[in-house]
Amino acid sequence: MSVSIRTGYRSAKRQQDLFENEIAATGSRKAALKRVLPAKSSMHVRGGAIDVKPQAGATWLEKNGSEWGLCRRYENEWWHFELMIDPGGTCPTMEPQPKE
Ligand SMILES: [Zn+2]
Repeated sequence: MSVSIRTGYRSAKRQQDLFENEIAATGSRKAALKRVLPAKSSMHVRGGAIDVKPQAGATWLEKNGSEWGLCRRYENEWWHFELMIDPGGTCPTMEPQPKE
């Protein structure tokens, strides 16, 4: 089993570009928000989020990440983890999807 980081920190411009591309791809701001947050709301811009691969590695991190304070935050994003708790704590219940 291995796990690697696909992306971590993103600049505000990069995050906003991703958000606007998602609006173009899905056809609405509301649909885009289920998968990508705008720069002002994204933990990637604040340096507190990572996206990992592959899914088997993410499953491992979901079980073990709390040792470092890392939790999977959203039910619809198996790849996305945030620093949410003190190391060794208990991760909160997942949220269904990102929201502003
Ligand atoms: Zn992410």
